[in-house]
Amino acid sequence: MKANSTVTLIKILVLVCLSGLCVSQDFDFFYFVQQWPGSYCDTKQSCCYPTTGKPAADFGIHGLWPNYRDGKYPQNCDSKNLFDPDKIADLRSSMQKKWPTLACPSGNGVGFWTHEWEKHGTCSESVLDQHGYFQAALVLQKQVNLLQALTSAGINPDGRSYSLSNIKSALQETVGFTPWIECNTDTSGNSQLYQIYLCVDTTGKNLIECPVFPKGKCGSQIEFPSF
Ligand code: AMP
Ligand code: AMP
Repeated sequence: MKANSTVTLIKILVLVCLSGLCVSQDFDFFYFVQQWPGSYCDTKQSCCYPTTGKPAADFGIHGLWPNYRDGKYPQNCDSKNLFDPDKIADLRSSMQKKWPTLACPSGNGVGFWTHEWEKHGTCSESVLDQHGYFQAALVLQKQVNLLQALTSAGINPDGRSYSLSNIKSALQETVGFTPWIECNTDTSGNSQLYQIYLCVDTTGKNLIECPVFPKGKCGSQIEFPSF
């Protein structure tokens, strides 16, 4: 009887582990980072449209970045787990639309995705394989329509300036979590809305409040350039 229940307990533990619940994570949360293409392109470095054509005037994915609660982050965690486009063949057309490369010279995206997987993705390989990693980011992006959150609050990509606190509240109200805004500067030195950070739990599936925010500063009024 007693031996029997011990065996049952062991079986349950094995099942729980196989379902992924006892995998040890080597990071605390993800930053899910989306980028305004107009603000990548109108800087000194400029940009090149992908070989597949000009991306939509919408936020694109930059990355899903494992982070620690103390603000530090791991990178390049497994040089043996190289990016393999064949593993995400079914996601490729969505990735071209939603995770567009803007680097020069023009590319098909594989270079950008390789960088993101190898620098950041490999550090979450204990929970997400390559397909799971890119799919998680695509699913997250569908859940939060940043552009719609902003435009319905009257904040439009029209080259005008908007207050950082209005931008934050518009996003907070729609998304339900506090965003972080990263700014960069256009060629005239104006501070502008570059990237929006949200935090995600270690499964890569659920938005959470950020355990720690990135560093950096925007002006109190920031430009939202067109694209
Ligand atoms: P990371 O290393 O993931 O923090 O991202 C920074 C690198 O990604 C820099 O080299 C950027 O120039 C590059 N980068 C950022 N956005 C894009 C983009 N949309 N397309 C291609 N490269 C990008
Ligand atoms: P500060 O202007 O740095 O004193 O920040 C005033 C408030 O705005 C604080 O609650 C900050 O956390 C917040 N804040 C400042 N910069 C940003 C930003 N780029 N994105 C989101 N919140 C910010």
